[in-house]
Amino acid sequence: MRLATITNWAYGVTVVLSLISGGTMLLASRAQTEERAAVAQRALLDRAAEKIVEQEGALSSLSRRFVIRGEARDMVIYQQTRQGLRSVEQRMRGMVDAGASAEELDALKAGMLAIDALRDEQQEAVAARQEGNKAFAVERLFGADYERDLDRATAQFDQFQYRLDQRTDAEVSRATDLSRLWRSVSEAALAVTAFLFLCVMYFIFRKRVIHPVVKLSDVVARLAAEDYAAIPPEFDHVDEIGDMAQAIRAFRDNGLARQRLELERSTDRAIRELLSRMTQRMQASDTFQDLKSVVECFIPEIAPAYAGRLYLLEETRQVMVEVGSWLSPAHSPPEFPPLSCWALRRGLPHRPDGDSIDIPCAHVGRQDRSVGAICLPLTSQRETLGLLYLERHHRAQSEAASEAYLTVLAENIALAIANLRLREALRAMAMADPLTGLANRRHLDDVLEAEIATAQQHSQPLSCLMIDVDHFKRFNDTHGHDAGDAVLREVASTLKDCVRDGGFAARVGGEEFLLLLPGLSMDQACERAELMRQRISDLKLRMEGRELGPITASFGVSSTPEICGPDKLLQTADAALLRAKAAGRDRVVCAEPRLAQARG
Ligand code: GH3
Ligand code: MG
Ligand code: MG
Repeated sequence: MRLATITNWAYGVTVVLSLISGGTMLLASRAQTEERAAVAQRALLDRAAEKIVEQEGALSSLSRRFVIRGEARDMVIYQQTRQGLRSVEQRMRGMVDAGASAEELDALKAGMLAIDALRDEQQEAVAARQEGNKAFAVERLFGADYERDLDRATAQFDQFQYRLDQRTDAEVSRATDLSRLWRSVSEAALAVTAFLFLCVMYFIFRKRVIHPVVKLSDVVARLAAEDYAAIPPEFDHVDEIGDMAQAIRAFRDNGLARQRLELERSTDRAIRELLSRMTQRMQASDTFQDLKSVVECFIPEIAPAYAGRLYLLEETRQVMVEVGSWLSPAHSPPEFPPLSCWALRRGLPHRPDGDSIDIPCAHVGRQDRSVGAICLPLTSQRETLGLLYLERHHRAQSEAASEAYLTVLAENIALAIANLRLREALRAMAMADPLTGLANRRHLDDVLEAEIATAQQHSQPLSCLMIDVDHFKRFNDTHGHDAGDAVLREVASTLKDCVRDGGFAARVGGEEFLLLLPGLSMDQACERAELMRQRISDLKLRMEGRELGPITASFGVSSTPEICGPDKLLQTADAALLRAKAAGRDRVVCAEPRLAQARG
């Protein structure tokens, strides 16, 4: 039941009970008035009856004194007193007016008649005394008859008195009982009203004050402990409790906003910290394999809502090739042409699942927006390097990272790729001979070590060819330095062709070259050397319309482990070359086996 209904009912019942209490109080008061009236009437009637008896007594005494003494003065007083008395009718009327009952009036009337009889006897005695008949007069007033009449009159008045007492006692008793009854009812109604009032007050106090205050204090305690799951009760009363509930709601809303803000700030800080760490690791990456590991490690932490792939542009084939992936992306293949991506076409991030309608990329398998695909082009100096592809992870719990962070992420990855490319280009430049494009001596040192290790590991032969262009100085002198350069480029190109299916070619001096042929035995290497010598001598070079003279080269061949140990490979090949030069040039000299060398 609603509080207002309860209080309305309680108010109604209280009003009714108060009216009952007031009414019964009035009735009790009226009963008291009746009681007082009965007592007053009784006193009035008592006094009237007493007066009659007194007067009659006085008349009897006066008449008797006159009869005894015979003095005229007593006679005058007696007559005056008698005339002063009212008649029986007048007196009776007075009694009726005073409220005497019929029975009382009967008794009173009988008493009055007895008094009248006494007066007649007094009159008779007084008249006899005046005539001098004292003895008769005395006999009349002091005789037994007069005394009997006097007693009868007194008895009648006693009877009146008795009846009057009985009636008034009954009336007083009834009025007293009635008054007491009404007062009790009034007091009971008042007590019930007071009790009801207290009950309602207690109920309201409990419901409106204690309950809400207990609930609010519980909520306040939880909010103070930053437990914002505590929901303040809805008290909409326009009172202090309602104001308090409203204030606590506002406090909770503020707390929640502050908590959300703090969470956002700490998430923000964590993402920024991760981004910075990832950037540092990427900058320290030496190879694309390192970069792939860093990307696959950090992106699921920075943007856990997304699975994705990292693509690099393979320029020769013009195709985007996946170099890494995380959280098992379901769409976008490992390879696709750059034109099927809108982000790569426009050089801008493409996000067809945003608020505004946009066209999905062709490389994303499903063409609906539920994929939540984001393509972030990786560019540097307006050159496309790759693509960061993200799609909404189907088990994603966390909020999607903001586009600003994803853009920063893509920029950092692009920068790292550009750095790696630059580093690779520098490394290639440092390792290559600029004139011929072959490896230089520094590169040879690295490769030789690795090739020897591989050959030993697989127990395979490793052969080495040392090549020197014959009389090159003369060629230079005859045809000029540019022609000499052209010859060097042609010879280098011929050598590069020979190692296309495996092997390594380097320019180790001005017109000196070296070939490493892993897996080729000494005989095979010598055969290969003879083939190359032939090709070089077959070269026909023209420059500015002039035909340049014949070009020949001398070859020294060695092989490990057949001819020598790996540490002597270059040395023995060089020695063989020297022998080829000494033997007249344009020839292949194969190094002698170790035993033969020792003997020699
Ligand atoms: P040999 O048959 O004994 O090897 O005689 P050669 O003249 O080839 O040998 P030599 O060592 O006497 O001369 C090498 C010449 O190669 C000297 C140098 O001018 C020339 N040369 C070295 N580097 C280059 C280069 O990069 N370009 C040109 N055009 N000539 C070069
Ligand atoms: Mg030389
Ligand atoms: Mg030479």
